[in-house]
Amino acid sequence: MKPKRLCNHAGCNTLVDYNQTYCSKHEPEAKKNLYDNYENRKKIGGKYFWFYKSKAWKNLSNQYRLKQPLCEACLQEGVIKAGNVRDHIMPIREDWSKRLDESNIQNLCHYHHNVKTRQERMKSK
Ligand SMILES: [Zn+2]
Ligand SMILES: [Zn+2]
Repeated sequence: MKPKRLCNHAGCNTLVDYNQTYCSKHEPEAKKNLYDNYENRKKIGGKYFWFYKSKAWKNLSNQYRLKQPLCEACLQEGVIKAGNVRDHIMPIREDWSKRLDESNIQNLCHYHHNVKTRQERMKSK
């Protein structure tokens, strides 16, 4: 006799094969939820994800680097260091309309970009 387990659905007492998670009644439901979550995440992250891959952003980002090749945060501390990351001063998650606004862009080195990202994450908590 094969080992059995309880269906994972809260409150369901149906026994299913050990390698299954849900009974035949609850399995379609669980799959649908999983799929919805995935689609949702793609939608939420997608807008930003695709923006950073867009031609418009890449052009602007390259143009900006030609004008300001140095890390602006380092410059403020009197340090000359190349900037590798074009960053939105006002994050586009907070103001989507400023995504291609040149006055909202700064060039940062990896160190300062990480610092800023960390600060933004702490703020959003
Ligand atoms: Zn069930
Ligand atoms: Zn820097």
